[in-house]
Amino acid sequence: MTQKNIICIVCPVGCHITVRGEGRTVHSIEGNQCSRGVEYARNEFIQPMRILTTTVRVEGGDTPLLPVRSDRPVPLEKLMACMDVIKEVTVSTPVHRYQVIVPDILGTGANIVATGEAS
Ligand code: SF4
Repeated sequence: MTQKNIICIVCPVGCHITVRGEGRTVHSIEGNQCSRGVEYARNEFIQPMRILTTTVRVEGGDTPLLPVRSDRPVPLEKLMACMDVIKEVTVSTPVHRYQVIVPDILGTGANIVATGEAS
């Protein structure tokens, strides 16, 4: 049996939740003050996801770096591999806000999009 202690970030209360289970099977969830914490804790136990935020290099622009983020959460376990892909990316200007920089990064279904502009 695996036990994972999680702080729920769904609301500012920040409940300390304990999840016990095995692999993708959850046996118990304790410490949540409301039902929204159940889903959050279950997902954190089975497959934690995160929004990825970073920067990419800009070629020939008025700024050397452009802020980017994933347009949906990616599996936490793939975060570093996604960063390795993004590290190799250089964009050419102009770049518009929400322009897709890397589509479907590593098959996660998430696009890496610009959150700023470069010209
Ligand atoms: S379990 Fe409910 S009350 Fe507690 S932090 Fe999560 S959303 Fe807020």
